[in-house]
Amino acid sequence: MHDLKVVIIGAGIGGLTAGIALQQAGYEVEIYDRVKELRPAGAGISLWSNGVKVLNRLGLGENMAKIGGQMERMEYRTKTGELLNDIDLMPLIEQVGQRPYPVARRDLQHMLLAAFKGEVKLDRKCIAVEEDATKVTAIFENGDKAQGDLLVAADGVRSILRTYVLGHEVEPKYGGYINWNGLVPAAEELAPKNTWAIYVGEHKRASLMPVAGDRFYFFLDVPLPKGTPANPDNYKAELKQYFKDWAEPVQLLIDRLDPAAVARPEIHDVGPIDRFVRGKVALLGDSAHATCPDLGQGGCQAMEDGLVLTNYLLSTNLGVEYALKRYETERKQRANAVVEKARQRAEQIHGKDPVVTEKWYAQLAYEKPTDVTDAIAKVISAGPLH
Ligand code: FAD
Repeated sequence: MHDLKVVIIGAGIGGLTAGIALQQAGYEVEIYDRVKELRPAGAGISLWSNGVKVLNRLGLGENMAKIGGQMERMEYRTKTGELLNDIDLMPLIEQVGQRPYPVARRDLQHMLLAAFKGEVKLDRKCIAVEEDATKVTAIFENGDKAQGDLLVAADGVRSILRTYVLGHEVEPKYGGYINWNGLVPAAEELAPKNTWAIYVGEHKRASLMPVAGDRFYFFLDVPLPKGTPANPDNYKAELKQYFKDWAEPVQLLIDRLDPAAVARPEIHDVGPIDRFVRGKVALLGDSAHATCPDLGQGGCQAMEDGLVLTNYLLSTNLGVEYALKRYETERKQRANAVVEKARQRAEQIHGKDPVVTEKWYAQLAYEKPTDVTDAIAKVISAGPLH
């Protein structure tokens, strides 16, 4: 189809990637976000090869390589630092045809914003949508309206447009743990600069991965009750307590992190839900399938959504609603499977059943490195760009 106007609600990874893909297809695109200033939520993200391939398709591969970290290996260690497994990532890269890139979220956001032609319209909180036979209209809190041939609802894990699409509210599910994440200067005493280093024990995790600019993106996961009070002034003392007796690099990491620049989300997911589309409105990204970060796939799935949606619009002349239905069928199957797999992984890592977690720790010690890379490749290769 030609000459479509698309209204996108939400300028996160999902909304921006979809906006770029739809513009490149020749469509007119407007993106709206409720915030006054766009700031990424969180410090870093690992874009696995399926996400990077979407960016390649959009002509952003070279830019991505500049801001992505060079991650050659993965290393699992016990909490006290004994090596459990040392995994060469080359077999994975050869199998799927693209290396993954850990990246600082701010760098990724800058790259996507630069690639989107035109301005994201800020301070526009969408509060409702209306549809008639040919058009869909977004209504904003300030009284403004935006009309298009279709509307992409990329409004995140607490999406209000999800309620419109489903006809009922879906409360995100707590994944059972809290994640502190940030950036620190890369240093060999923390981890080798080409390695994703992961310490595991007591159902917790400490992780460091390289991003461009000689920095590590780090995260520290601790299973805690939802609503545990948060105050940046206490982060270091709390983390020292949670990771007491852990290896020296973990202690150094906590010493070096800047609590004022640390994000501390309680991890939630959404779904699987059985509708991504109603009429001319399509959910995309976390609004449809927020995913526990334990596979590093939520953002990658949002990117896949944008490409698939664009391809279905481009390749049919049967109308917008038909294209959206095809999008829904394909993406529901793929993204819902990832939501479920990531939740199982989150539970395995964070001790939902302590016996399962202990088994996983034991398995890490004898698992063949290629079994690990094969499992990652399987998730990547089930995507639209194989
Ligand atoms: P969001 O980024 O949430 O964007 C939604 C946007 O919509 C926001 O800008 C918001 O302001 C706006 N908005 C909301 N409501 C309205 C409204 N009513 N009107 C207007 N605008 C609105 N994924 C990976 O691929 N790899 C990883 O390694 C990874 N690690 C993660 C680590 C953590 C700790 C977390 C929490 C997530 C991680 N993810 C990862 C998942 C990834 O961050 C998300 O899947 C991705 O950011 C979702 O993008 P989105 O655009 O769908 O939603």
